[in-house]
Amino acid sequence: MSENRVVQGRMVTPKRLAELIEGEDVMDAESIEDTDRACPECGGDVIEVGYMPSITEFVTGYKCQDCDWAATDREE
Ligand SMILES: [Zn+2]
Repeated sequence: MSENRVVQGRMVTPKRLAELIEGEDVMDAESIEDTDRACPECGGDVIEVGYMPSITEFVTGYKCQDCDWAATDREE
């Protein structure tokens, strides 16, 4: 369930990945998944994680494993 991944050279948990995407603490996060997407900035692999920034909201966040690029489904 809680598989860690290397992002920008650091091992992160799902919750830590969600916090990197959100820019602040999150309540909870699901497991990290691979995607078919390539980073629009560097072409690196993009991973995704579903998380709850608050009790009433569920967001899917995307993060490049190689650079600072991140996005959420709020923006799509
Ligand atoms: Zn990138």
